[in-house]
Formats: sequence, structure tokens, C-alpha cells
Amino acid sequence: LEKVPSDIEIAVAQEPKLVATVAEEMGVQADELESYGRFKAKIELSVLDRLKDKLDGKYIVVAGITPTPLGEGKSTTTIGLAQALGAHLQKNAIACVRQPSQGPTFGVKGGAAGGGYSQVIPMTEFNLHLTGDIHAVAAANNLLAAAIDARMFHEFTQKDKALFDRLCPKKKGKRSFAKPMLARLKRLGIDKVDPEQLTEEEQSRFARLDIDPATITWNRVLDVNDRYLRAITVGQAPTEKGFTRQTAFDIAVASEVMAVLALSKDVADMRARLGRMVVASSKAGEPITAEDIGCAGAMAVLMKDAIKPTLMQTLEGTPVFVHAGPFANIAHGNSSIIADRIALKLAGIEKGDDASRSGYVITEAGFGADIGMEKFCNIKTRVSGLRPNAVVLVATIRALKMHGGGPAVTPGKPLDAVYTEEHLDLLEKGCANLGKHIENAKKFGLKVVVAINRFAHDTVPEMELVQKYALSVGADYAVPANHWARGGEGAVDLAEAVIKACEDESQFKFLYDLNLPLVQKMEIIAKEMYGADGVSLSPEAQAEVERYERQGYGGLPICMAKTALSLSDDPSKKGVPTGFTLPIRNVRLSAGASFVYPLVGDMSTMPGLTTRPGFYDIDLNPETGDIEGLF
Ligand code: ADP
Repeated sequence: LEKVPSDIEIAVAQEPKLVATVAEEMGVQADELESYGRFKAKIELSVLDRLKDKLDGKYIVVAGITPTPLGEGKSTTTIGLAQALGAHLQKNAIACVRQPSQGPTFGVKGGAAGGGYSQVIPMTEFNLHLTGDIHAVAAANNLLAAAIDARMFHEFTQKDKALFDRLCPKKKGKRSFAKPMLARLKRLGIDKVDPEQLTEEEQSRFARLDIDPATITWNRVLDVNDRYLRAITVGQAPTEKGFTRQTAFDIAVASEVMAVLALSKDVADMRARLGRMVVASSKAGEPITAEDIGCAGAMAVLMKDAIKPTLMQTLEGTPVFVHAGPFANIAHGNSSIIADRIALKLAGIEKGDDASRSGYVITEAGFGADIGMEKFCNIKTRVSGLRPNAVVLVATIRALKMHGGGPAVTPGKPLDAVYTEEHLDLLEKGCANLGKHIENAKKFGLKVVVAINRFAHDTVPEMELVQKYALSVGADYAVPANHWARGGEGAVDLAEAVIKACEDESQFKFLYDLNLPLVQKMEIIAKEMYGADGVSLSPEAQAEVERYERQGYGGLPICMAKTALSLSDDPSKKGVPTGFTLPIRNVRLSAGASFVYPLVGDMSTMPGLTTRPGFYDIDLNPETGDIEGLF
């Protein structure tokens, strides 16, 4: 193999098409396009109305085996496959990917735009502010955080009567409810009520939220790896005397607002979800929502542009939607439903058209398939109602060797020789990890295409071994792919396998019924996906489950917050661990995003900077204005 230049060298060497051209080629009209400069544009949601009668295109999710900490190339394969389908096989193909957080961009070296000759461009814009969606998420999140503290402050400093007057102001002698009061009364089942008729006791009950400060789960966020904000004290100025409290910052993409953005079907759904987000409990133990705080409407306003997906392009000029980037542990780690819906319509055909003209939407699920694919299937598609046809499972020789007992792979350190030389024995032992993910995908009724992402050191016998193994344990197709080094051309075989896998009707099914009790749903995921013997809940977790079920949240799906580095809860256990019980320390609720997330181990929601952060290398060239050293 010839030497492949660095990601940024490849990315800047390619002059992108104007985004208006990309849009036109994919059938987006000029009035549905909101350009942000020349190479990126938001798509108006009205496109969904215009295309509502079209049949959806084929829907493919890209997931991976249990990765090394270096990543095994899911993003690269998503883009490479889209390039192969779109630029080499002349199919209508759209990739849907997540927007990366700036935290890792300046922290750990390594982009999220794919790599080599399979990338989203311009990669500098993709990895930095893009069209401001993450900033909008932070603004909405922090408005709510400020509103919670201000509400507690005012409830304490104001008498019941004054508080009620604020929430139900008198205009021209007539009292009317402010919006949050109306929403609250409605939630309590009090639809028609004359404010003048409320007794003093009722006025007090409805005006006061009585937030218990110890129960507040809503943190402030920003899009920086800033470890010193993991625990902070707020309210230290003399003006807030008596209201100091411990709280924290999370990285912006860990905000529930981001998960809401990714899971919303349309504007009305996003508005409703923002209102349903639970931020604390009252002193009487009732959930307090963003609607109760009265700022869900304003949050929706801040998110009004963020809800539109951003159109970009691959190195080979095919379309890519970039939209939303929720965490893959405490959230579901998938790009947005709205982007997938729009892409499926744009790639779809008119009723009665020749089915072979249907296009393809390739969407990516973060982490290993035990997490990303499972959440894609059980959470994302449950909300969207969309039905995937196939999964592309990305495997690498290096990760399989690690699962077979190879030494630890550490970012920033050179790879051990077993990874750069042929070692068929280690590889064969490690294949069981791939086997487990294939078995898991089959449980969802998906067609399975294994993509063996080829690295320069991989030998032909190694590739053949994995291919043979995958087919022997039930993969429908298994194909070596070389798109990192060769772009779309290197993934043509993979693309042809995907086309064949999508020929039949989707046989997709869910893994569990939502009506089951929460613990039973956790158990099904632990046993079926991870190979655990069962789950064991701490007393706190047990109490939390009981509380959510009592409060009416028992019917939500489960979003496991588990490490990606092992099928089990222990990142050091490679291969296919057995004989373990999944320990659940706590269970948390994302009522707006609509899932319950059990915490399996420590999940950091605010990364730190390393001793050798990415920003050391980044600079602006004063002569050309170009960004240098991004990756
Ligand atoms: P994931 O999405 O699974 O985390 P990425 O696609 O982001 O993985 O790839 C992780 C890193 O590995 C990127 O820097 C990418 O450029 C690089 N990479 C991916 N595939 C290959 C390959 N076949 N050869 C060399 N580097 C690769």
C-alpha cells in the first residue's frame, strides 16, 4: 500500500462542491435550503411535507465490534460506504452522522469526520462550530439551570401572595394564568379554573414548586473538557446568601437537551419533550419538569434552528447530513431521527416506481454494537417508527487480536508487534467477539454485513480468516473494505453486499416489550446482548426503579450507561466474557428524551484534558487564514 497522507492534508486538497449543488443533486429545492457559507446548509423541515407520499429508501445502520480505545472505523466506514454507493455505483446514497463535540477535538487527537480518503468535508468546519447546534443546546440547557436556581430563590424570598401575583398577573382588573401555571394545572388534571376562585391555600400550592435542592439533577454545561467544573459551588455572592449549593458542569453533548434533539420527530415533539424533562423533585416527592419551571417554550425557541439538519458532503461529493451528537453511555449515541427521516424520503422512490431505484441511507450508531446498535433498535427506531433493513458491523484485525489475548492497545503509544505482523492464532481466538455481535444483530431480525476495515499491516490470510469465520456463524455477508486508503472505490464490494442485503423486506423486531417492568427490561439487555447471567441492583438503584415506576415512567425503554470497551461492565475483560452479573449502581431518568438509564460503573460526563492535548498543535496561519494541525 502506498503511504496515505494525513486526514487534514487529504481534506484540504479536495475542493468541495457548493452546498447548493449538493442539495440540487439530491432533490432539495432552493427554498428548502438555508446556507451557512458556501459548503454547509441547514435543510428546512418543510421538505418532509413535500415528500410525505414518497416511499422511504433503504435504511442501514453502521455499528462495530467491541473496539480498542483507538476506534475501529465506524465513521470512516459510514462515509466510505456512502461514497461507494453514491459515487461509484451511481445510487442515491445519503450518510447521516453525529456532530462531534469540541471537547475531544481540542482534547484527544483524532477527528470524527471519518479518516483517510473517506471523510466529511470541510473537516475543519465539521469538527468546530458547524452551524451552532451544540451552542444552542448549551444555551437552552443553561437557561433552564438559571431558571431553577432563580425559582428557588424567589420562592424563598417572596410571600405566597406575591408569588401568585407574579404567576397570575392581573391585567385590566382581570387575573389570568401565566403559561407555566396553566401547564402545571393541566398536568394536575385541573383544566378549567377561574384564578379568582382559588383559595389562599390553593394559590400557595400552585404557585410554589417547593423544589428540594438536594434532588436537582439538572447541571450547567459547556463544550470544553474542563475537569475543574466537575464539582462546583454556586450562589456565593452576597446577593444569594443562604443559597449556596453544590452542583456541576457537564460537557454540552451530555445534556438531555441533546438527546431530545436527536430523538425528536418534529418541532411539536421537541417542544413537548423539552417540557417533560424532569429536573428535580418537590419536597413532597413529585417530579418537577422544565414545563413547571416555565422555560420549555423559551428553550424551544433557542433550539428552533438546531432542529434542522446540516447538509455537508463526502470527499467524493456525495451528501451527508450532520445532526445531533448525544453521549453514547448516559444517552443513546445516535444521530438524529429528523435527519434520517429526511434522508429516507430524499433517497426514496415514488409509489409505483421501480423498486430497484430505491436509494440508501447509512446512519451510524456510536460505541460497540452491544450499545450503539441495541439503542438504535430499542430506543431510536421505537420513537421514529422507521424500520432498518441491515446492519454493517465494522471489524478490524487489530481489535479481534486484542480480543484473542493481544496486549492492551493504548492511544499515543506504538502498537505492539502482534498487531503489525500476521498472528492467525490470536486472531482466531478473538473472532468470538465478532460472533457475539453477529448473534446480537440477528436477534433484531437484521441482515448482517460484516465490513472488515483493512489496515496497512493486515494480511490476506488474516482477512480471509475473519471472512470465513463471520459467514460460518451466521453473517449474511462478510467483505474486506479498503475505503480508508482508497475512498469509495475501496468499499465497492461492501456496497454491493449492502445492496443485496437490502433486497428483502425488513424483518426487524424489538428485543423487549415496553410494558415489562424496568428491571426485567434491564435483565433482557444484560443477558441477550452482553451475555451476563443477570443484573444486580444496589439498594439505591432498586429504590430509584420503584420511584420511577410509581411516578409513571415504568413504560420507558432502557438506555444502559455501560463501557464500550467490553461486552461486560469491566473494560479489561475482552473477547466474550461469561459468568458475570451486571451491577447497576444507580438508575437515572431522562423523561424528555424518554428513557431510563441505569449506571453500570462510573460514567464521566465531563472529560478532562490530557498532558498532551490536541490544542498544542492547532493554530491559525496568519498569511492564509487556514486552520493548521487540527488532526
Ligand atoms: P469509530 O467511528 O469507530 O470511532 P473512526 O472511523 O473515527 O472510528 O476511526 C478511528 C481512527 O482510525 C480515525 O483516526 C481514522 O482515520 C482511523 N482509521 C480508520 N480506519 C482506518 C484504516 N483502515 N487504516 C488506518 N486508519 C484508519
